[in-house]
Amino acid sequence: MSLNYFLPTKVLLDEDCVKKNAELLGPLGKKAIIVTGKHSARVNGSLQDVRDALASQEIDYILFDKVESNPTILTARQGAAFAKENNADFVIGIGGGSPMDAAKAIALLACQELSDDELFSGQYKNEILPLVLLPTTAGTGSEVTQYSILTNDKAQSKTSIATPLLFPKIAMVDAKYTVGLPLKTTINTAVDALSHSIEGMLAIKANSLIDLLATESITKIAGSFGKLLSGDIDAACRAELIYASTLAGIVIAHTGTTAVHSMGYSLTYFHHIDHGRANGLLLAAFFAFVEKKNPSVIRHLLDIMGLKDLAAFKNTLGSLLGEKEKIDRQDFEKFADIAIKAKNIANCTVVPTRQDLYNMYVESFE
Ligand code: NAP
Ligand code: ZN
Repeated sequence: MSLNYFLPTKVLLDEDCVKKNAELLGPLGKKAIIVTGKHSARVNGSLQDVRDALASQEIDYILFDKVESNPTILTARQGAAFAKENNADFVIGIGGGSPMDAAKAIALLACQELSDDELFSGQYKNEILPLVLLPTTAGTGSEVTQYSILTNDKAQSKTSIATPLLFPKIAMVDAKYTVGLPLKTTINTAVDALSHSIEGMLAIKANSLIDLLATESITKIAGSFGKLLSGDIDAACRAELIYASTLAGIVIAHTGTTAVHSMGYSLTYFHHIDHGRANGLLLAAFFAFVEKKNPSVIRHLLDIMGLKDLAAFKNTLGSLLGEKEKIDRQDFEKFADIAIKAKNIANCTVVPTRQDLYNMYVESFE
């Protein structure tokens, strides 16, 4: 039995939590920079709720609405320059993982001059703009993690800035913003959250308290498989999924991710496969790999999901994710070379070799 828990973020998961907690924004400053993607925050009500909350506290704001999916270092630098030019006191990130991660990098870069290499070095001054994050997808859990994952062309992959400085001061989590999320994004993001909780339980940094959170999160997501498969996703299911994804975020804040994420980044970088989908395509092969050395942990995970065996897990993921992309075996050689260099490989309880990674890629796409 072991315990290890640290979460310096105030998590407010509730209907209308932005409106109900507007007064918490007052102490953060006089001017906010709101960071969003190009479109969805205007449509799902989140941006308006934040504007109203800021107005109620007489806080001015500027809007940086240029964040693309899988944000680049350049986008973060542009946002940080905009924050500095306008003397923003704090950052509000609204959106899926992409705008939330960009918001974190912007908060850091607005206070510190860092080269691209220094950005991922883990060595920073103790200076960052305060952060408030609102998720509008139920997947990444970025609202409760200390990671910002940026597209890094130098590494030909996605690289994490990882520092406790990036924990937001406040996470405001309201399922109502996810109601209009298209089915495909709903599934991909739910699978991302599932992957976080599963990988958390298979990570060397797992501990018994975090296992409890991961178990709750996996139970909720697996309980939604039927609705996700039918496409009939009601408000109750949305609420369960965002609760599960925030828990899964707390899980990876403590455990980190494993080989699944390391391998998934190449699928996103080179083939533009959505982040959650990339993980989902690889999960069953990772289960099969771990099962050879540790069948009981895989049996335990299948039991939590109420699944008979690994084949049932593979079938469920297959039905959720649909037809797989066609990828050349040669590409997998390159991806295995990249993934083996990732830090999360050493975080696996059963550590794969480069050949194991290659085999998992092949198995996942055959
Ligand atoms: P995303 O890239 O943030 O968003 C995907 C798409 O969904 C975008 O087109 C977005 O539109 C749209 N969207 C967002 N919310 C919506 C809503 N409520 N209704 C309708 N459309 C909506 O996708 P994501 O899967 O949430 O995030 C993926 C990113 O998070 C990746 O970069 C991944 O590496 C990162 N990640 C970070 C962590 C962490 O701990 N920091 C963990 C896992 C993953 P708009 O662009 O118009 O908003
Ligand atoms: Zn993820």
